[in-house]
Amino acid sequence: MALLFEKRLAVDDISHGRRTGLCPTLTLPSSQRDGLLMRISLVGGAVGAVECGLIADLAERHGNGMIELTNRGNLQLRGIGEANVSEVVDELVRLGFGTDGARTVTISPFAGSVERQARNEIVAALDLAGYAGLSNKFVVHIDDSAGRTASQRGDIVVRLRRTGTATVRLDHLGEAELPVDDLAGLITAVAARCADHGRRSRLGDALAASTPRQFVAELASALGHPLRFTQLPESDVASSDVASSGAAAADPSPSAVAVIAGPATARLDPIGVLAMRRTDDAPFFAIASVPLGRLDPTTLRRLGVLCADHAIAEMRLTPWKAIAFACATEGQATDLLVGAAQLGLAIDRSHPSLGVVACIGATGCWQTELDTLSTARAIIAERSAHGLRSTVAATVTAASPTTNGTVHVSGCDKSCAFSGAAVTFVGRNDASGFERIDAGDR
Ligand code: SF4
Repeated sequence: MALLFEKRLAVDDISHGRRTGLCPTLTLPSSQRDGLLMRISLVGGAVGAVECGLIADLAERHGNGMIELTNRGNLQLRGIGEANVSEVVDELVRLGFGTDGARTVTISPFAGSVERQARNEIVAALDLAGYAGLSNKFVVHIDDSAGRTASQRGDIVVRLRRTGTATVRLDHLGEAELPVDDLAGLITAVAARCADHGRRSRLGDALAASTPRQFVAELASALGHPLRFTQLPESDVASSDVASSGAAAADPSPSAVAVIAGPATARLDPIGVLAMRRTDDAPFFAIASVPLGRLDPTTLRRLGVLCADHAIAEMRLTPWKAIAFACATEGQATDLLVGAAQLGLAIDRSHPSLGVVACIGATGCWQTELDTLSTARAIIAERSAHGLRSTVAATVTAASPTTNGTVHVSGCDKSCAFSGAAVTFVGRNDASGFERIDAGDR
């Protein structure tokens, strides 16, 4: 493993520093102001109870102790010293982290066994074809049955339907319906066309080199039956040259695809006890939000203990920086929330930290001299002392009904931490303070 790291290090040369624009991975951390930033890609956001303690130990021993939750439900360790990287990588790989498949094929933390099975088949097919690690940013995302992660971005977003078909959304092309058995084939075919344009290519690169109709016709040919994408005109429905017997007809009902058509902007991300559908694998989830999306090693360790105390094998990180625990009963979910609240997590919407997001700022980024985290904590303290209907909180909420009261503190206008509608305090270039920008003014 150390060898692999050294090889990638040589290719991308992190010693040149300031790779702030590049996404870190486990074996290719990015160089930041506070040391190396290492991302641990998780499958469905899952971290085992035991692994919580081991990751906390690594963050404490070899990093600066800051553990971040990402917008894709992964973990990041900050401030890793270069001399310690190999040891950290080796340990995490030994624990089963760091596979190309985990990074490339993501899945909702609320996905059931059917979705997980489909994911395994897609990972195996990409592995077999040699495309599992195509690009750090090439992502296939599998949503759950209720579409709770429909707003996740991906080159390909998949939602399984109970009819034995899957709805597939491709960037720039819209959605298509196809048999579940064809999923792995379609995704491998897309990956192959991306790979034709180099190992770092994504769907946009492949589409730019072709016309949408040509591109879809190639996919249809690979599958052996026609494909209908919603953003292709009717006259451009692509057929393969082979007979289409046995192919799933595209569902003409708009509702068939509307369910994953757009980001869930108006919907509040779940927090508290979530009752699942009868068809889901777990009847309840307990969901607790992590203030500012950052944990210290002690809290992560205690979360692992909380899981173990309730005989829960793993916790799952959500894309909205919360932690979900699959529970057998509503009572168990309630008990878990009590435990999570004792660790400082938010378990209902009245918590002052809810909706406050901040990038790392001057603590870990060279692009600003402003302390975004302290500013965000001051906003939370303000909310805590005076309630949600006072001063900053009230101003923000009243002025921005579309933002659900989200306040975003950003060190610069790159806005790494959050891309949705929010009232954003953007750091001025001269580091003299923050400029307030309301949603819709950007
Ligand atoms: S938004 Fe924050 S983390 Fe991103 S580049 Fe600007 S200062 Fe750095």
